[in-house]
Formats: sequence, C-alpha cells, structure tokens
Amino acid sequence: MKKTLYFRIILAYILFGLFGFIAVATVVSRLTTEYCIRDKARMLYGEASRISDTYALQLYRSKIKLEDVQAQMEALSSYMDTEIWILNPSGRMVVNSGKAPDPGQETYVEDFDSTIIAGNYYTIGRFFNSFDEEVLSVIAPITNDFKIRGYVAIHLPMSRIQTDADNMLNLSYMLLVILLVLSLIILFFFTEYVYRPLRRIIAAAEQYALGNMHYHIPVESEDELGYLSASLGYMADTIARSEDDQKKFIANISHDFRSPLTSMRGFLEAMLDGTIPPERFSHYLEVVLGETERLTKLTNGLLTLNNLNTGGILLQRTDFDINAVIRSVAASFEQTCRAKKIHIRLVLTGKILFVNADLEKIQQVLYNLVDNALKFSHEDSEITIDTTEKGDTVFISVRDSGIGIPKEDQKLIWDRFYKTDLSRGKDKKGTGLGLSIVREIIRAHDENINMVSTEGVGSTFTFTLRRSEKNDALSSLGEPEVDVRE
Ligand code: ADP
Repeated sequence: MKKTLYFRIILAYILFGLFGFIAVATVVSRLTTEYCIRDKARMLYGEASRISDTYALQLYRSKIKLEDVQAQMEALSSYMDTEIWILNPSGRMVVNSGKAPDPGQETYVEDFDSTIIAGNYYTIGRFFNSFDEEVLSVIAPITNDFKIRGYVAIHLPMSRIQTDADNMLNLSYMLLVILLVLSLIILFFFTEYVYRPLRRIIAAAEQYALGNMHYHIPVESEDELGYLSASLGYMADTIARSEDDQKKFIANISHDFRSPLTSMRGFLEAMLDGTIPPERFSHYLEVVLGETERLTKLTNGLLTLNNLNTGGILLQRTDFDINAVIRSVAASFEQTCRAKKIHIRLVLTGKILFVNADLEKIQQVLYNLVDNALKFSHEDSEITIDTTEKGDTVFISVRDSGIGIPKEDQKLIWDRFYKTDLSRGKDKKGTGLGLSIVREIIRAHDENINMVSTEGVGSTFTFTLRRSEKNDALSSLGEPEVDVRE
C-alpha cells in the first residue's frame, strides 16, 4: 500500500498551505492594494469636494482671505498627511499646503489638464511631473454660476497607501498561519484517533486473512472505529468457533460411522474365518443388518439437518389437525409401547385443533420427541401428550417419567451428536441428532421449544405452533378429550 490515505492527507495539507501562501501573496495582495487605493481615493475626493464647496468657493467670491485659506489648508493637510492644492483652470497654483505661493512669482502646474482624471475621480502618477514619487491624486472642480473657477487637488504618496495595504496583508498572512496551525492540530487528532486505529484494524484484517482468527484488535474506542473493530473481532470469533464446531462435527461423524462399521467388519470377518459357525450366521447377520439401519438413520439425520441448516427446505405450510397427527404418531409406536408396557395418554383440546405449519416436519418433531420419551422411560410407565391453546398459540407437550436429564446436560442436548452419559446405557442406537433436527424445524417455523427435566423423575418437552383460523370457521371446540392408549 504505497499511496496510503495518510500520505494523501499530508500531501493535501502541504498543497493547501502552499496554495494558501501563493493566493495571499498574489491575488489577495493585489485585491488589498486596489481596495486601499479606492478607499483612500473616495475619502480624499470627499474631502476635496468639501473644500471646493466651502473655502475655495468663498475664496473665488472673495469672502475669505487667501492667507486664511492657506492656513486652513496647511492645517488640514498636516492632519491628513496629504498635500492640498487649489488651482486655476489654467493650472496656476493659488493655494499650496506644502509651500505657500510667492505673491510675486506665479507657479504653474506645467501642462495641467483636468481631463487627466476623465471618467474617474482619481489618478495615480507623478501629477504632471510635480512630484518625485508616485502619488494618488484626486481633483474636485470649483464651480460658481455653472462655470468651473478652478480645482481642488489632494495628493497622497502611494508609498503611504502601500504601507497600509502591507499592514492589511500581514493580517491575512497571520490568519493563514493560524489556519494552518489549526489544521495541523486537526491532522494530529486525525492521526491519533482515526489513522492509527485504522492501521491496527487493517493489521488485524491481514491476520484474519492469514487464518489467525484469535488475533485481538487493540482498538477499544467508543466510536465507529471501535464498533468496526468489535464487529470484526466478533466475526473472527464466530469463524473460529464455527471452525472448531466443524472439526468437532467431523470428529463426531467419523466416530459414529466408525463404530458400526468396525462391529460389522468384526462379525463378517469372524463369519469368514469360521470363528462364527454357519448355524449362528442368521443371528449375526441380524446384528449386521441392525448396524446398517443405524448407519442409514445417521445418514438420513445428517441430510435432514444439512437441508434445514442451509435453508434448503422451504416450509410447506398447510392447515391441519394437530390432534389427528398426534393420534397417528402415537399409534405408530404401538408395538414399542406394548413391548415396554408403556401407556401413551393423550390429553387433547377439542376433537379437532387446526394449526398452520408444515405437516411432515411437525410429524417428524413429534416422532423424535415420542421416540426419546419411549427410549428413556422405564417399563410400566406413562407418557402424556397434551395440546392446549392460548390466544393464537397452540402448546404441544410430550411428558415422560423416565430417567430425566442431568442439569449440566440440559443446555447441550440440542447440540448435534450430544448424548447424556445417563442415557447411553438405555439407548445404544441413538445418533444424538434427533433433538437438533427438532430444534431446527421449530426454528424454521419461528416457534419455540423448551424442556423441563429432573434427573430420575422425568422430562417434558413443549413446543408451540400457530393456531389456524380454520378453527373459528368450524367452531367445533368441545370439552377436552382424554384418550388413553396402551
Ligand atoms: P438420540 O438419537 O440420542 O436420542 P437426541 O438428539 O434425540 O438424540 O437426544 C439427545 C440426548 O438427549 C439423548 O441421547 C439423551 O441423552 C437426551 N434425551 C433426549 N430426550 C430425553 C428424554 N425424554 N429423557 C431423557 N433424556 C433425553
């Protein structure tokens, strides 16, 4: 990363400073001088007009003495730091604040021409070679009876105006320096609070890209960057955890596939090498068949879970009678119930209770829950399946009085392949996938499932479903129906 963000910002800063100085030295300098000239000229012209309307006019009307006007002009010019002249139209000097005209000797402004200021009220130059340096001159006519009797001219050295302009320009330079110092401070804060944390986040992203998911980003500020680094850290944690899960998952699959394969191989080898006599073949082939069934169950479970996880299966929601589904699932376990002398008691709300869900998936949920309840129940016990309604929700519970689930395992039973130690003796064929499938199906429905269990007392699994509006149309709800099945 050669052209870093920081490099660009520094470059922009330097260019900003450079252009700032060039702008002040050229454009601003010119504008300031022009402004000072115009301002001074306006002020001097005002003064010249005032003099022409008062002293000068009175002088031409002989209402005031020449010496008095001369004295007034001297006082005024020393106050304004200018030179004030009163001239005849021909250019003869009548009053000169800089030097009182000699009464015996007439002084002229050579080649005086009042049109020098044509179209303007000021001019810059040496005023008909009257000065050694450049001056700003304003000329105001003295009019009496609609005739021009003379002119009042005021001169101000340009060097004075330039000094004023320079002073103003210095102010602009100072402002520019203050601006640059301020932006330097902003640059410093940007470096500390944006650029450095950003570099750390980039370094962390590089580490994550290299696979080091446990790298900690040292950015803990409470702003957007802090939030970004926390999100990245969380993402890395999640990836690390999912990698761990993946490894565990593969290890579990391998283990669960290997044990039936090992036992099948053992039996088949024993049959081939004669350890198992031919008359016992049918027995061991049954065992081998049992193991293949287990492998099929495992494969099917994995496939179902995979489809549910990747959202591969879309729910096919319909309105169906959950009571009927419960009855048919319970009926499918009749054989097992008889063998274990277990009663399935159905406590169902109404004869018909419509829910809106995916029929096949809910059948699978019920099947898995009842299958577990049966597996982990003691002989000669009872399993209860009940349905209740609350508003728009239907609650379905499967309760057994079996071995129960130890407290420390209660959170883990929903994980793939998890089996409690307590249950291992009772169920050797379990895959540990049943409850994961149940949870995924209920999640896909946006519903809830929970479990209450006490070790040695029994477990109750309860899940919710959305009540169908079809019930209201039928309104055939009656007394709770109690159906006891053996
Ligand atoms: P499995 O195929 O082993 O039954 P599940 O995911 O359905 O897999 O269940 C996971 C584990 O949770 C079981 O192995 C068992 O230890 C425990 N479990 C599930 N249901 C019950 C129950 N009704 N009573 C006691 N333990 C249960």
